[in-house]
Formats: sequence, structure tokens, C-alpha cells
Amino acid sequence: MAKTKYIFISGGVMSSVGKGIAAASLAKLLQSKGYRVCPVKCENYLNVDAGTIRPTEHGEVFVCDDGIETDQDIGTYERFLNLSLSQDNFITMGLVYQTVIERERSFGYEGEDVEAIPHLCDEIIRRIKNAGRKSRADIVIIELGGTAGEYQNIFYYESSRIMKLRDKDSVLQVHIGYLPTPPTVGEMKSKPVQTSVRLLNSMGIQPDFLVARAEKPLDRKRKERLALFCNMDSDDIISNPDLESVYDVALKFDEQAFADRVLKKIRLKPKGKDLNDWRKLAEVVKTDKPEVPIAIVGKYFATGDYVLSDVYVSVIESLKYAGWANGVKPKLHWLDSEKIETDGAEKYLKNMAGLVVPGGFGSRGTEGIIQAVKYARENNLPYFGLCYGMQLATVEIARHLADMADANSTEIEPKTKHPVIHIMPEQEKKLLSRDYGATMRLGAWDCQIAKNTKAHQAYERNEISERHRHRYEFNNTYRTRLEKVGLVVAGTSPDGKLVEIIELKDHPWFVGVQFHPEFQSRPLRPHPLFREFMAAAKANFSIYTN
Ligand code: GLN
Repeated sequence: MAKTKYIFISGGVMSSVGKGIAAASLAKLLQSKGYRVCPVKCENYLNVDAGTIRPTEHGEVFVCDDGIETDQDIGTYERFLNLSLSQDNFITMGLVYQTVIERERSFGYEGEDVEAIPHLCDEIIRRIKNAGRKSRADIVIIELGGTAGEYQNIFYYESSRIMKLRDKDSVLQVHIGYLPTPPTVGEMKSKPVQTSVRLLNSMGIQPDFLVARAEKPLDRKRKERLALFCNMDSDDIISNPDLESVYDVALKFDEQAFADRVLKKIRLKPKGKDLNDWRKLAEVVKTDKPEVPIAIVGKYFATGDYVLSDVYVSVIESLKYAGWANGVKPKLHWLDSEKIETDGAEKYLKNMAGLVVPGGFGSRGTEGIIQAVKYARENNLPYFGLCYGMQLATVEIARHLADMADANSTEIEPKTKHPVIHIMPEQEKKLLSRDYGATMRLGAWDCQIAKNTKAHQAYERNEISERHRHRYEFNNTYRTRLEKVGLVVAGTSPDGKLVEIIELKDHPWFVGVQFHPEFQSRPLRPHPLFREFMAAAKANFSIYTN
């Protein structure tokens, strides 16, 4: 097998300018040239994984098949590259320190003085190479968290420098910097990027490519100026202006032959394949489509739009893909469940075509969610409950159809008389010993689907595999009692012990899943449940708009 190549992607000037999208778009482009690409994300924080970070702090916690809890960027890579990733693709500074310190404690360094350099860097390099080897990648794309000049990510930069020093033809450095256009000046300024490249230079790194993120395309004059000051060829400066959709970024890069230039520098030739599917997708995204109003009810909504779209990124993306597959566009309405508690559900839901309740934790706002579920059940509003959304739908059905007025999940009311959702026994022990890190029921588990159910119609399969992240589960003691009033158990674990999917008889589309289907939906392969939910919402909407 040919030697693996490594492309490091660093950020400059400021964060939140789309470094992840640019990195994923370059990866997509290289994939379209016929190469096996493996993304790796390096995080600066000392959490060992993202599982213990509040979603309002760092966005959604994304879960892979193997159960690793990662940052939302891993989700972006999975969606763009249509790959299933794992622990190998995700490095945190906490994980690096933990591995080194554990090795030291077991005398793994045999008496050596253990230092940040080289030992932390050795561990980072080992993990990067391991990712490439295990996925048999031609090219590993390593996205470095944060921006150049932070003390937190210095060991990642140092690792990239060392890798390049050891093998110049196999390692590239791509820097993505932001060029602001201050409104009072009205002109794009390149000085901050120049300073950022100087910073890299002071770390011994000369970028091979500079991606210029800006509102507008970069003109020739600025390209030349940047090239001169940054010690580069002007054709290695790639313009990355604001575009209509994120799917256009790869196309913009392709216009500038970015991937071909990258391949040339790492001594590879483009082969086979093309970007046609992606091009079609980018077109579909831009085509005008009728809007279908979808309500999303949850508790993390009071913190502003920016945070919101980060917390639920996979749910939002899945709904969009499902909309495109149905020729419509979901218009999302974020409803704070605490508002529903005070105002009632009807006020907010009466003009909606469908309701989604995404995952969540804790008791705040849950009564409002239960009221929203009740409204959807009674008014034939298509309902899709994801994890907590499935659990709270079970509570609603128990309370209002099965005469258990105080039914609840023990997560919300530990002393409830009817714990229709309860903690899994092994989970209880973990919580009692404060063993929180990576201890939920995580990752992909098989699920058997019952025939003649909405789930079976969607998946068209008897067995599926979906990703999980929860501590509580459906309490089987109540199964028969709930089935008698119309709850349908549409999916269980293969041993029949864990209820994975519930539905409701005599309702146009009411499905709750214990897992997170949003983690497996891809733009070129929308998830079947999301697709069918949007189909039901669209049908429902046309009933009352015609
Ligand atoms: N809080 C619930 C549990 O732990 C649901 C989790 C979720 O929605 N991801 O089981």
C-alpha cells in the first residue's frame, strides 16, 4: 500500500468562521478524486471526551457506532464524507494527557523523565497515524481545534511540525484565516491573516495553502499581496467567500483546483470518481420548495439562536434532508417547553404540521413537553420523539390513556407510583458512585422491528442498528397495560428485553425511538424515519392548507 499522507488544518484570526466546513469540503473533494480519506478532529479541552460537556457550552454531543461521545464536527465529517467514524477519529487534550499519565504510572517510560515535549507530541502523532492505519486511508485530514496562537493547542501544532520535518512530501499544512471587512472601511483587510501566518512561522510552520475566509471572494490583487507577505505562491491562496449553502464550499474549492494542487504537493494523481452527486445535492438545496412548519419542543431554547442551532445540529440537518427528499423545506419553530407549561400547547401547536421532541436530560420543562405530546396525540399531529421524546410520550400515554395520573420517569420523579420509565440497573450503580464519564448506554445497538408498524414501513427491514445515549428505559412491567390502550411496541433489542420503538395505534404518524436516528442521517442518504415523519407532516399540512 502507498504511504499515507497527512494534511493538517489550522485556523487563524478567529474562531467560528467555518474551519470544520472548509476542512470537510476539502476532504470531500479529495474523496471525489478517488482517494480514501480519514478525518481526525483534535480538541483542546481537558475533558477526556465530549460526553460530560453541557450542550450549551460546546454544542451537540455526537455519538459514533462504537459509543464514543464526540464534538459536533465529527457529525459534519460523517455527513459530508458518508463515513462512520469512531474513537480513532477524535482526540482531546484530556485523552492525550490521560494516556501519557497512565503509561507513566505503569512504568511504561521505564524511568524516563516524562515531558510535554516529546511525550505528549509522540502520543498525538501515534493517534493520528493509528487513525490512518486502521481506516487504511490514503489521506488523513487533521483539523486542529481553536486558532493559532493559543497556548492550549500548542502541542498539536508542534506535532504537525515534527511530522512534516520527518517526511516533507507526505505532510501538508493548510491554514484557514479570516479576512474581515470592517463596515467603516468597506474593504477586506488582510493584515490579521498575515499576522496569523507569522505566528505559524514563529512555531516553525510555513503553510502550504492559505484558505481565505471572507464575506466576499478574494481578488487577484489581495491574493498577490498575501502571497508576498506570507511567503507563498498566489495560486496556493484559496478563496472561501460566504456562500448560499455549505454544500457550495466544495464546489468553490473545485473551481480553484484546490484538490488537484493538494494532490500534486503530496505526489498523488487524481483518479476516477467525480463530484456529481454532491453537485446535484447543492442544486436541490438551492431550489425553492414549499415550507412545512415543524415544531421542536425542548428546554435549551432560551439561550439564543446561535447556541440553539449548535445544540441540535444533527436533528436540524436530519429534518432538512428529510424535507428535501419530500420536495419541501421544514420551517422550524423552536418552542420553549416552559412556555407551554404556562400558556398551554394549543396556542403554539395549532398551526404546526408536525412535532419533534429531541433528546434531553433532567426535569426542567418536562411537563410542558408532556402537554405538547398530548396535543399531538389528540389532534392527529405527526409526532416524532427522539430518546427523551420517546420516554415522555410513554409517560403521556400512561397518564392520559392508561389511568396512571402520576406516571413519570424516575429521572424526573424518583418516588412516582408508576415509574413507566426507570433507570437501567447497572446505570444506577454508576450514578451512585459518581461514575459519569462514558457510562451511559452508548453507541450502536441492534433493534428488531415488528411487522405492520410505521417503523417497518420506513426501514423496510426487520433488523436495524441505531446509536444510543441514555440511562433510563421503558419499564416492561407496564408493557401489557400500555399496549392495551393503544401503545405499540414496534422495536425491541434482539433479546426482546429493551423497548426501542413505540408507536400509537390509530394515529397518522406517532413514533418514539429510544435511540438517536439523527446521528445516522446523511444528505445523500436521509434517515428513513425522518423521511417518513416529514412525509406525514407534509400530508398533514396539505390537508389543512388546501
Ligand atoms: N434523559 C434520558 C435518559 O438518560 C434521555 C436521554 C436522551 O434523550 N439522550 O435516558
